[in-house]
Amino acid sequence: MRLRCGWVLLLPLLALSGCRSGGPEITRVVLVTLDTTRADRLGPYGYDRGTTPNLDRFAAQSVVFEQAVSQVPTTAPSHSTMFTGLYPQDHGVRYNLVYKLDDGAETLAEILQRRGFSTAGFPAAGVVGREYGLAQGFAHWDQLDLKDEGVRELGALIGGTRRAGAGVDAVIDWLAGQGGQKVFLWLHLYDPHTPYSPPFPYSSRYPNNPYDGEIAYTDAQFGRLLEALQADPAWDRTLLVVAGDHGEGLHHHNESWHSYLVYESTQRVPLLVRAPGVEARRVAQPVELADLTPTLLDLVGAEPLENIRGVSLRQALRGQTLPDRFLYFETHAGKLNFGWQELSGVRFRNWKLIESSEPELFDLATDPREKNNLAEADPDRVGRFRAELLAVAEPIREGTASKTDQQLTPEERRRFAALGYVAGGGGGSALEGARNPSEMIDAEGEITVAGSEIQRGNWPRVLELCEYILGRDPANKWALTNASLSAMNLGRPQDALEPSKRLVELYPQNPNSYSTHGRALSEAGRADEAYELLLLARETIEDSEAVGYFFLVAGFDAGKPVCDGAVDEVLEEFPSSARTYVMKSRCDLRGGELDAAFDHLIKAVQLGYKEVELLKHFDEFDDVVNDERFQMLIDLQDPDNTNVRAFPGTPTGS
Ligand SMILES: [Zn+2]
Repeated sequence: MRLRCGWVLLLPLLALSGCRSGGPEITRVVLVTLDTTRADRLGPYGYDRGTTPNLDRFAAQSVVFEQAVSQVPTTAPSHSTMFTGLYPQDHGVRYNLVYKLDDGAETLAEILQRRGFSTAGFPAAGVVGREYGLAQGFAHWDQLDLKDEGVRELGALIGGTRRAGAGVDAVIDWLAGQGGQKVFLWLHLYDPHTPYSPPFPYSSRYPNNPYDGEIAYTDAQFGRLLEALQADPAWDRTLLVVAGDHGEGLHHHNESWHSYLVYESTQRVPLLVRAPGVEARRVAQPVELADLTPTLLDLVGAEPLENIRGVSLRQALRGQTLPDRFLYFETHAGKLNFGWQELSGVRFRNWKLIESSEPELFDLATDPREKNNLAEADPDRVGRFRAELLAVAEPIREGTASKTDQQLTPEERRRFAALGYVAGGGGGSALEGARNPSEMIDAEGEITVAGSEIQRGNWPRVLELCEYILGRDPANKWALTNASLSAMNLGRPQDALEPSKRLVELYPQNPNSYSTHGRALSEAGRADEAYELLLLARETIEDSEAVGYFFLVAGFDAGKPVCDGAVDEVLEEFPSSARTYVMKSRCDLRGGELDAAFDHLIKAVQLGYKEVELLKHFDEFDDVVNDERFQMLIDLQDPDNTNVRAFPGTPTGS
């Protein structure tokens, strides 16, 4: 007779041996994350178009969590939560690309690795790449190198990310080499993310609904993985979990994609758990992605983590009710990109509060599409939930606040005020006038169009779109930035001064404000002012490559001694800044050192500098342009040119 896990609480000595799923020892842990996959677009969650036969089959042998809440509707923060059991305010990853999961974080993979599991991660997109801290604990890390010709094979890639088929191939290959080793692997399937472009035959099967087509394709690839796992003798000891990182708006509450709003379209995600010895069932009680790590650790018999947010779902897997609790969610994407309000909220049973300048309270049991805001009708509940939200919003870990979340100190404010900025001395934040993302989300279309016009360099059109956005949202960070850049690119730096100065006043903690305004001042012939502002920015706020670079440009133009050390300091901080190497060569030329100037221009080109031809327009490069080596510098920009190899004295790649 096997002891049931519930009894172990009464028998502390037995607990030492570890209480697993109630079945055999788990030797394989497989976590599949489905990016951008709405729960209600999958068969196990009631979608009836037959798009997910493999997930349907898998659900029939799994525990299906009907109400799983994603903590954040963006990829890196959500995966950081899944891998740590922490909320974004604890692990510090609140948006993609600008934050990194701290090396000190304790991740699921690290713990399983310490317990003797062979670990492997198969991310499909750079947004969850090694540089964002998510590779911690994975001994094998299969991240695409986009520069590698081999990965550019037809069909393996879509928009710089890996197709599900290629990811499943890589996993099956890796598993074949593991023998009887205990394994933990994470496979990330990205296909349902935009652009919706399913491969044939899914493209023709779903011509009017390519999102469904991507899901159907992903399901087919998941089916291949499922078959391979089931065919292995280790299947009896395999824990297989499928989870969505966040959903997709699909025009729910006017949101096309995800990131900016926190309605059920993006916050309700699929979560299916198949564990040996655990019967299939459906669980209606709400759970959250932060529960994933504590649950997996519990099922493999690992010690529970202390001081985390999620809980083990073991009881729920066995059909028992979990204690009721408040679940948390947030997004800072609108705040970081546009200066909109940040959104956060809590879920308790069937109730959901979204906090903003216009709080929203929904009863999801009767109103799953969140059409009927009950906040005014039920102020008591709003008050109670708000108190819970305030308590949970406090980080439980120290040192997770990033510089971008911090305000200037009074002393720093005084110094900026002395230069004529951030007057007023109050909070200095744009947030009092910040727009609610819900009222601005319909501008997503204009912003997206402007994004592609920026790629094309169509600056008159970008400026027009920015002016339209600013008409509705005068503090919009993105529009102020791009209005300034458009004016500069149109050769009208005077017009860039006002929007970029607004940036400094509204977003004084953001390096981009200073690089934009500093550049505008320099181009408008006010290099002295630019130099003073950027010098202060370098001393007070988080540094950035752009702040460093435009600081050098301003100093150079203003006749400051930036060539005596400052340029080397910036290069030390940002060694892959191609344009800073061009500044270095300007310094060389100023000192009459033509050979050194060439060496640094070569370095710039090797780092991706593409504007060598433009140097012809600057008098200071006359000696460079008239030198026989100049043509070779141009050739070096073209990777197909065979002259590159013959280039004399080319330093080898770093
Ligand atoms: Zn995602």
